[in-house]
Amino acid sequence: MPELPEVETTRLGLEPLLVGQRITGADVRQRKLRWPVDTELASQLRDQSVRSVTRRGKYLLVTIESGALLIHLGMSGSLRFLPEAQAPSLHDHIDLLFASGAQLRFNDPRRFGSMHFSVNPHDHWLLRDLGPEPLAKGFSADYLWKISRGRRIAIKQLLMNGRIVVGVGNIYASEGLFRAGIHPRRAAGRIARCRYGLLIDAVKAVLDEAIRAGGTTLRDFSDGDGRPGYFQRELLVYGREGEPCVRCATSIIKRVLGQRATFYCPSCQR
Ligand code: ZN
Repeated sequence: MPELPEVETTRLGLEPLLVGQRITGADVRQRKLRWPVDTELASQLRDQSVRSVTRRGKYLLVTIESGALLIHLGMSGSLRFLPEAQAPSLHDHIDLLFASGAQLRFNDPRRFGSMHFSVNPHDHWLLRDLGPEPLAKGFSADYLWKISRGRRIAIKQLLMNGRIVVGVGNIYASEGLFRAGIHPRRAAGRIARCRYGLLIDAVKAVLDEAIRAGGTTLRDFSDGDGRPGYFQRELLVYGREGEPCVRCATSIIKRVLGQRATFYCPSCQR
């Protein structure tokens, strides 16, 4: 599943290709995505130029003169920039068409992705309740410490709550907690402020490293058949059940927490 670093990598790859492109229309071959695609989408975008490509959580915002196109990649979505028209294949659900002859193609086998046009994107129901960005200054030790006082919820579940912080997915929550030495089940309200400092630094570092790793795959966005930047990650605990901890050699444990697979070292994480 594309997580925040993959979405940011997609953004970095697409921005230089899309800014300045003039939209002439959209071919919507499949409207049944996570939410139905508006039948007016093509007319909402037509004759508008792309001003910027930004990100909020796991949403891409393609800003045009009259608003923005909100794109979510869901479980299996990807975007490809095609310099010239190519016949669509299975799961190529939507093409944005540009005056230059280029296209932005949205492929999504599982159809959990979405596309919405919004005049005021930051007030859109998908975005308005989102918490701070994990890489922004507002996501700080003070913020997490204050917001967690009196809460019994497991710290990993707090980290994955999009109203608290947006876009820290299962993999990065597990990796961040390992680096900070915090047990994923520990009650959020019982973690000291100084440990939140370690956790904030760890979460920012794992996300940052993943975005940098994705940067090496940017060329994929402009070649016709490359799949965009999902990259091999250096993971210390996630997916390593039964393998020795890189710090202490204790076997990594896997437990389900909040219906999500959670990996941790029972010795290093308290
Ligand atoms: Zn360990």
